[in-house]
Amino acid sequence: MLNIALFGPPGAGKGTLSEYLLQHYNLFYISTGDLLRRELAKNSRLGQLARDIIASGGLVSDEIIVQIIENTITEHPDADGFLFDGFPRTYIQSYILDGLMIKMNSALHCLVNMEVPAEVSVQRLLLRGQTSGRSDDNEIVIRNRLREYSDKTLPVLGYYRDRGIVRDINGNQPIESVREEVVAIIEAELSKRLFNIVLFGYPGSGRGSQGRRLAEEFGLEYVSTGDMLEQEIASASTLGTKIRNLYESGGLVTDDIVVPLIEKKLAQSTTAKGFIFKGFPRTLVQSYILDGLLRKYGSSVNLILDIEVPVLELVHRLDARSKTERCMPYDSSTAKIVKRLQEHEQKTVPVIEKYQQQHGVSKIDGRGSFDEVFAKLAEQVRTARKRMR
Ligand code: AMP
Repeated sequence: MLNIALFGPPGAGKGTLSEYLLQHYNLFYISTGDLLRRELAKNSRLGQLARDIIASGGLVSDEIIVQIIENTITEHPDADGFLFDGFPRTYIQSYILDGLMIKMNSALHCLVNMEVPAEVSVQRLLLRGQTSGRSDDNEIVIRNRLREYSDKTLPVLGYYRDRGIVRDINGNQPIESVREEVVAIIEAELSKRLFNIVLFGYPGSGRGSQGRRLAEEFGLEYVSTGDMLEQEIASASTLGTKIRNLYESGGLVTDDIVVPLIEKKLAQSTTAKGFIFKGFPRTLVQSYILDGLLRKYGSSVNLILDIEVPVLELVHRLDARSKTERCMPYDSSTAKIVKRLQEHEQKTVPVIEKYQQQHGVSKIDGRGSFDEVFAKLAEQVRTARKRMR
C-alpha cells in the first residue's frame, strides 16, 4: 500500500496533479473538498452544516471531516493506496489521518508539499473562477482561504516534517516539471516497498523450480522453508535430526522450528526488493504468522499464485522423481507421496481458500512445459507489479 497526501495552498495545482497521478497509479482518490461538494449537492445534513463555512472560505469542523472521510476509507480496504487531496488540513486532522491509517494497518508514506507564492494562487483561482462555477473562487473568499491555510493548515507540515515524510516541490513551474518531480518522488517511495509473492501448488506441481526462476527474473529473494530445513538436515545438527525424523514420517515440521528460520532469512536479506515464499504458509496459523512477519517490514502479501496440476499427473511426476538422484526423503515411497498430497489437501487448501476470499488467488494451469508455465506465472507477476505502480 502506498499512501500519499498532496499538500499546498488553494490553487497550488493539487487537483490537476491528482488527475494525472490517478491515471498512472492505482490509488484511491480522496478529496475532502469534492466529498463536501457532493454533500452540498445532495443537500444532506452534513452538506447543510458545511455550506456557509465553505462559502465564506473557512474550514469545516474536524467532526464533519471525520464523518465524511472514515466511510470513504473503510469502504475501500483493497485499494493499493490512497491519494489525499485537501486533507489533512489542520494539526488535529493529522492525528485523525494517522488513526485512520492505523485502522487500515498502514501509514501515510509521503506528503508532497507544493510550494506556490500567495499571489500566484490568487491569480490561478481567479482564472479558475471564470469556469469552475465554485462559489468560493472569488477574490474575497480566496484571500480568506489563503489566510486559513497559513493559520490552520501550515502547522500540518511541522507534524509530518518531524516524521521525515515531507517532500517539498516547486509548484510554480510548468505542469510537466511539477509532474516529473512528483513522479520521481513516488517511484522512489515505491522502490522502497517490498513486493511479496506466495507460491502455492501441490508437491510435484513445479513450484520449487518455478519459484527459483521467478525470484531470479524479478530480483526477489526466494524463501523456501523446505530448502532451509534441508540445509539444517545436511548440517547434521540436533535440529536437523529432529526434522529428518518428522520428514520421514511424512508429518509437518512444527512452527517453532520454521518461524525462526524465516525470521533469520528476512532479517539477512537487507537489499531484497521482495520475497517469494514457497512451502509457507502451509496452515491457517502460518498464514497469520506470515502477515505478522511482513508487518514488521511495513509490508504485506502482494500476489498469491497457485499452480494447478491434476492429482494423477502429480503422483506420476513425484514417482518419476523418486527414481532419480533428485529423490527427497519424503517421496521415497508411494505411501509417503500420498500422505504429503493428503496433508496439502487437508491443511493447505483451506489456506488457499482463505487467501482467495481475502485477496484473490491467481490460478495457473501447471500442465505443459516448464517455459510455458513460467510464462504464465511471470505474466501474473508483471501485472501485479504494475498494479502497485
Ligand atoms: P478544496 O476543494 O480542497 O479547495 O476545499 C473547498 C472547501 O472545502 C475549503 O475551503 C473548506 O471550506 C472545505 N474543506 C475541504 N477540505 C477540508 C478539510 N480537510 N478540513 C476542513 N475543511 C475542508
